Amino acid sequence: MVTIPVQCPHCHSTEVIKAGKQATGAQRYQCQNRQCARRIFLLQYQDRGRVPEVRRQIVDMALNGSGVRDTARVLRISPTTVIAVLKKSRRHSTRQPHAGASSSFTRRARPATAHRRAR
Ligand SMILES: [Zn+2]
Repeated sequence: MVTIPVQCPHCHSTEVIKAGKQATGAQRYQCQNRQCARRIFLLQYQDRGRVPEVRRQIVDMALNGSGVRDTARVLRISPTTVIAVLKKSRRHSTRQPHAGASSSFTRRARPATAHRRAR
């Protein structure tokens, strides 16, 4: 038998405890890392809009100039999910300016777009 430790999708810490279950019966987990912005997560989401990788793609597409409905169609999620994720990611980066992957991406990506638009 092989045991695989549960990892937090945000900080990749293995200091994770079980935190009850969803209404569907899926196990919920809680990250114990105090610096981590994320607390509750699931290993397998039913809803594509909740998957961390999809949420990162939403932000990436917005920074590359994709519209809300464009992003929703490509990632097969609802336009309202795209708006909700974009609003949340901005609130995240203003709360902790030097933590999290999305804020470091913003710093790298913004000057490139501004440069291209200027010409
Ligand atoms: Zn974490």
